[in-house]
Amino acid sequence: MSDHIDKTDKIIFAEVARGLAAVRGRPALVAQGCCHYCEELVPSALSFCGVECRDDYDKELAAKARAGRPG
Ligand SMILES: [Zn+2]
Repeated sequence: MSDHIDKTDKIIFAEVARGLAAVRGRPALVAQGCCHYCEELVPSALSFCGVECRDDYDKELAAKARAGRPG
């Protein structure tokens, strides 16, 4: 049961992340079956294994933007 709830939670998180990306005016990441930050395997609908990696990835993007290197 708790496993099902956890999975639903992650799907909701993915939807929220997509919404935030849209609000911020940049395209949502294409889910590739593994975390975009640490490359841990995740369900295919997700881009990150958790909020920590999402946040770290965001910080890294912001740092790169500040350094003038897009992407
Ligand atoms: Zn990760």
